[in-house]
Amino acid sequence: MESFAQKRIGVLTSGGDAQGMNAAVRAVVRTALHFGAGVYAVYEGYRGMVEGGDRIRPLSWDDVGSILHRGGTVIGTARSAEFRERVGRLRAARNLLQHGIDRLVVIGGDGSLTGADIFRREWPDLLAELAREGEIDPATAQAHPALMIAGLVGSIDNDMVGTDMTIGADSALLRIVEAIDAITSTAASHQRSFVVEVMGRHCGYLALMSAIAGGTDYVLIPESPPPEGWESQMCELLRHGRASGRRDSIVVIAEGATDQAGKPISADYVRQVLEDRLGEDTRVTILGHVQRGGTPSAFDRWMSTLLGYAAVEEVLSATADSEPQMIGIRYNRIDRAPLMECVQKTHSVAQKIAAKDYGGAMALRGGSFTEMFQVFKRMAESMPSVTPAQPRRLAIIHSGGLAPGMNPAVRAAVRLGLDRGHVLLGVRGGFQGLIDGRIEELKWGDVEGWASMGGAELGTNRQIPTLEQFYAVGRALETQRIDGLLVIGGWAAYKAIYELYRERERYPAFKIPMICLPTSIDNNLPGSELSVGADTALNVIVEALDRIKQSATASRRCFVVETMGRFCGYLALMSGLAGGAERVYLHEEGVTLKDLQADVESMIESFRGGRRLYLAIRSERANPHYTIDFLSRLFEEESHDCFDVRQVSLGHIQQGGNPSPFDRVLATRLATRCIDYLTHELEKQSAESAFIGLAEGKVTIFPLKQMADMVDWTYRRPKEQWWLGLRPMVRTMARLSVEVEKEGAERLCGKPILPDTSKAG
Ligand code: ADP
Repeated sequence: MESFAQKRIGVLTSGGDAQGMNAAVRAVVRTALHFGAGVYAVYEGYRGMVEGGDRIRPLSWDDVGSILHRGGTVIGTARSAEFRERVGRLRAARNLLQHGIDRLVVIGGDGSLTGADIFRREWPDLLAELAREGEIDPATAQAHPALMIAGLVGSIDNDMVGTDMTIGADSALLRIVEAIDAITSTAASHQRSFVVEVMGRHCGYLALMSAIAGGTDYVLIPESPPPEGWESQMCELLRHGRASGRRDSIVVIAEGATDQAGKPISADYVRQVLEDRLGEDTRVTILGHVQRGGTPSAFDRWMSTLLGYAAVEEVLSATADSEPQMIGIRYNRIDRAPLMECVQKTHSVAQKIAAKDYGGAMALRGGSFTEMFQVFKRMAESMPSVTPAQPRRLAIIHSGGLAPGMNPAVRAAVRLGLDRGHVLLGVRGGFQGLIDGRIEELKWGDVEGWASMGGAELGTNRQIPTLEQFYAVGRALETQRIDGLLVIGGWAAYKAIYELYRERERYPAFKIPMICLPTSIDNNLPGSELSVGADTALNVIVEALDRIKQSATASRRCFVVETMGRFCGYLALMSGLAGGAERVYLHEEGVTLKDLQADVESMIESFRGGRRLYLAIRSERANPHYTIDFLSRLFEEESHDCFDVRQVSLGHIQQGGNPSPFDRVLATRLATRCIDYLTHELEKQSAESAFIGLAEGKVTIFPLKQMADMVDWTYRRPKEQWWLGLRPMVRTMARLSVEVEKEGAERLCGKPILPDTSKAG
């Protein structure tokens, strides 16, 4: 490994705080120490950098322990007027150089990142001035000719162009949707209307996604002001909704919403309109700072961990000529993009909104944002927008294990199917229900409230029709005159449809378009990097891990926790990353006696070195013999009373709970495309079948015949699993070397190194 011993990195959080910043800071610190570089926290953002002194302090491995689950930022954030001035930045440069820091990881919004770039560009001048004034000696100026920066976007608004998600946005959405769910139940009880205002001055992400996930009636976002006369249209929509079965009405409004003329629309104005025109008792809820609060979601923890890791790689490999990069997420992968290009594009969204170029603003937000805005509108209207000559009968059926998000998927499919002029049929009880004729028509109001519901209202089971049942399945499809089939489910659903597809020549009734929509907490389905339900399960596991960790009252304890997933280790690995596990056992990787011995040894060494808690996560079928019980007994036996061991099997709580906003939105997005697919195939008079998923972040439809090439039938998982590439990250974040733990900060940072003439760059 290249030696980075002379390289010193500063990390700061700046601007508004966001959940997940701590995970990023932790990852920056641990990755830097892992690579042998020194790492300093700049406390209170740029203010601390300008003030210097003990605002800039080295961080050790342990300093960032137990912060993953905390909201906000443990190293503080502040606004700094001084840093906006050159004289402030001059002092900041002086203070960084005192510690030999010439690499910065800045975690903040577009303001903070702009500030960082200005600072970087001025750096050589600032150093020259400091040298002239005798504040630093020329050798120091020579040794640090450039400031190398990497930007991570901490912003709950998800307002940065160039990354799919910003740190904190997923958690904020979780908070908002929890609030909308709570408001929905009280609104429904009293048949009331609510106007909910969420953050987003120039960005409608939180408003739009919470409107979709919360199943609300209307949304107002800055990028796409409502058309002229929107008040009447909104009231009409709400009236229709009520007539079709809704008991509550909710309008979500982004704080920066305006009308077409650019005039702000306030939550209070919307309330007034609803009261005046509908005679509804209407309340306003402004969510404000609760959106920033609370513990970060699982996604914000694992994503920020990856971002922090990549940011350190970036600043360590950067040279004086490197273009500064923003590290973000694109299609579930870490992605680098030129920092200032992203900031400028972000500013241009605001400029386009100000110039009333709303088409341009929406275009910069990207295709899926625009698509989801259209989907929301189609779902909210209870009137079909298409009246086909011949209405088609589309059936929806579940199969496979229960996954949170099945209900929102059905709701979206029903409403979007109705919007396309189809007749929608719900099959109760999986394939047996189909055979038994437990089928009913689903109307717009029948799926009301399903957006937020866990479980599966239509019922699901793991039954795959046997050869003997094929005839009965075919009969049922014919007698019910089913033209197309949407199967929302897990492994059993995919297997069943694949079998039906293979038997099409023998059973002509199977020659109808069919499509599978992936729902499985295990995330083990082909063609989709994420299946609906996995995010919810991950959040449940991470919340449980937080509690388990908190419960450790013993001075030294090892927890062995088992997650679901059968042969697929997704939940184990990702909860290990998000929950700060020291070790994860996966079937994909295998578990050997040699591994276990090494684990026991490093565990003992680490506890002897002062560790208090060790978390091991075992995926359900990691190994048939090295069970959770075996591992716990082994660790207990070998602990020699140095620590105690507890085992926790999380079990079925992982399938329960209301779906997370992410899963609701994903379910909606996929269901839309499934309905479009079936519609299209029927129009073409084709009887093709397919499965849908997110592949490299994009909704992709795969012909069913490809399935056999993509799955490992024995272990019931896809042959390619993208997340396996993240395994080394768990090791890096949990490095158990006592040497690093104890000596890390002192050895690598030590005393201030000014002046340092040893190395340039
Ligand atoms: P955010 O980073 O969330 O957009 P701000 O815009 O408030 O938040 O920026 C945070 C801090 O970043 C500011 O208080 C200031 O110190 C610094 N900063 C922002 N813009 C600039 C700029 N143009 N030049 C120098 N520093 C800036």
